[in-house]
Amino acid sequence: MLILGSRNSQIGSIPLPEHCCNNCNSSGQMQMSFYASYAHILQIPLFSTGRKAVAECTNCQEVLEEEYFTHDLTEVQQQVNAKTIVPPLHFIGLGIMVVAVLCFEIFY
Ligand SMILES: [Zn+2]
Repeated sequence: MLILGSRNSQIGSIPLPEHCCNNCNSSGQMQMSFYASYAHILQIPLFSTGRKAVAECTNCQEVLEEEYFTHDLTEVQQQVNAKTIVPPLHFIGLGIMVVAVLCFEIFY
């Protein structure tokens, strides 16, 4: 068990029916998934460290990272990215620290 680290959690996905896979050329099998990453201590999320998107083919499992997105995929990513949010749970460790500091300040 890692004391400190980072993890990703999936925060959404949309199908890409008009896109073909670059690897297997099948159409209608692509989807774009959005992930939020966070730093954790003892498996408790501390704060968000960013978001990323990947395009995946459900037929051949090929994954395209966002730095290799075509212009069309980048447009889709930007449209959907505005609608996805980082889960507030990713900041719960920071919230616990703030409450602990405030309690310490009040009672000592
Ligand atoms: Zn494919």
